[in-house]
Amino acid sequence: MKTQQFVVIGLGRFGSSLALELMDLGYEVLGVDRNEEVVEEWSDRLTHAVVADATDEEVLKSLGVRNFDCGIVAIGDDIQMSILSTILLKDLGIKTVVAKAISVLHGRALEKLGVDRVIFPERDMGVRVAHQLVTPNLLDYIELSKEYSIVELRVPDCLNGKNVGDLNPRARFGCSIVAIHRESGVIIAPTAMDHLTQGDIMVLIGAKKNIEEFEAIINE
Ligand code: ATP
Repeated sequence: MKTQQFVVIGLGRFGSSLALELMDLGYEVLGVDRNEEVVEEWSDRLTHAVVADATDEEVLKSLGVRNFDCGIVAIGDDIQMSILSTILLKDLGIKTVVAKAISVLHGRALEKLGVDRVIFPERDMGVRVAHQLVTPNLLDYIELSKEYSIVELRVPDCLNGKNVGDLNPRARFGCSIVAIHRESGVIIAPTAMDHLTQGDIMVLIGAKKNIEEFEAIINE
């Protein structure tokens, strides 16, 4: 099977960290930045890294950008550059285009251009960290929509040895355990008979208010 190929435009803190993680996950990454020093810094660690202005259509064409599976526009500060390179990636016909936004208005403009996903790194990380700070045992928090979220919770002492059926979060709180992580592996879609052990990580999905109720009960 062909390895998926990503082109990351802008190798600032966000773009470079995303590009490196994709490399670690085994994908091919072309990094593009107009700053030569930045490109030099990352060139050894990416499949390819080139110095180029991502608002120059001819340059993007010559780099064969249209053949990439996904393009990520990781330019934030200069909204004009972000918008122009997004338009070019869309026009060149890349299947999936993801772009970083630094403000609500920037995000709205990117949505209007039809990007597949707008990312607000600072806003989203702020929300996640706030949840982690106020909820004991909360490891991660992902907002799916205004109403729904996915959370990772460490199984507390009080649930040690209970099975999913005893806890029955779906009937009692309207949220579901979709996975349990433990050292020996991951149980996807656990059944009522699966046990929880202190220190396991359970992944819950549901309405935010239902998950909050569940968290409050298990942390009492
Ligand atoms: P981060 O927070 O991720 O560090 P930032 O929003 O502070 O990013 P930006 O100034 O938006 O940083 O730029 C990120 C990178 O994008 C920089 O390395 C910059 O050189 C590069 N960049 C900006 N405009 C272009 C462009 N037109 N073509 C290619 N690269 C660009």
